[in-house]
Amino acid sequence: MSELRGTVLERDGAAYRVLTDRGVLRAVLRGKAKRDDRDKIVVGDVVRLDPGPVGDVYGIVGMEERRSLLARRVPEGRGARPVAANVDRVFVVTAARDPEPVPQVIDRLLVVAEANDLPGVVILNKVDLDPGSALRERFERAGYQVLATSARSGLGIDTLRRELAGRTSVVTGPSGVGKSSLLNAVQPGLRLRVGEISAKLRRGRHTTVAAVMVPLEVGGFVVDTPGFSEVGLWDIEPEDLDACFPEMRPYLGECRYADCRHVAEPRCAVLAAVQAGAIDPDRLQSYHKLLEELEARPEAWE
Ligand code: GDP
Ligand code: ZN
Repeated sequence: MSELRGTVLERDGAAYRVLTDRGVLRAVLRGKAKRDDRDKIVVGDVVRLDPGPVGDVYGIVGMEERRSLLARRVPEGRGARPVAANVDRVFVVTAARDPEPVPQVIDRLLVVAEANDLPGVVILNKVDLDPGSALRERFERAGYQVLATSARSGLGIDTLRRELAGRTSVVTGPSGVGKSSLLNAVQPGLRLRVGEISAKLRRGRHTTVAAVMVPLEVGGFVVDTPGFSEVGLWDIEPEDLDACFPEMRPYLGECRYADCRHVAEPRCAVLAAVQAGAIDPDRLQSYHKLLEELEARPEAWE
């Protein structure tokens, strides 16, 4: 019997919609896969299907090992809840202008990506309104790839399409920055379809909006994770936050105190690097704000 494999696109009640080379099939967990509750299947998982359906419903008999997992922690020590598997990169979109960019909001989303071990890429959109040079430099200095785009003029869209091709990407960012417009420019109708699926889920019985994967014509997928920003900083221990700032990593371990928080400690290597101009003071400020937030989190999360 030939093996049938596919990628989970969406949860559909107790079943999953799985993209295979026979098209999109409905499938439910069966046998060992069903008992193995720990490895709960999420969008992006590559599953093996029993090639013989019962009616039109296939059985999921196994799951391939994940190469990455976006997860959110649930309170009171109930462990982590997986959101999407096998995500390659997180694209954080900001506008160069209109709405006025808030770099710290972008930093926060980049930290969430880093905390999940997912590389972040910054999309600087609306460059037809403003070149956004300072913003671009800020993120490039921090070690991020920055793609300049204009969904309006078409600038950078071919590059963005190439970057998305063949990989699984989360596209996130504040509202109004042009996420829908960009995805529509990459593939007409794309964002529209994502929106429809999400709206349907929102009306359904589920209290939280689940992630949905949308296949791209150029290969790869875009993951619509309406809750990405809520995946949250809660998942990060305060002492792990510094490692979520790529430009700080070379200095970690060089501070006088092993548990240095890089706030006002003597002989702090990170503060010294800021003094020396190697780290942007504004990024340090972002780090301090997020650290404060993490240290003040409610006890239920600890
Ligand atoms: P989203 O909330 O991030 O999905 O943002 P939308 O795609 O809905 O875009 C918000 C507004 O910005 C809309 O009025 C778009 O027409 C506009 N917009 C999107 N991209 C660009 C761009 O590159 N340049 C300009 N000037 N406007 C844009
Ligand atoms: Zn330090």
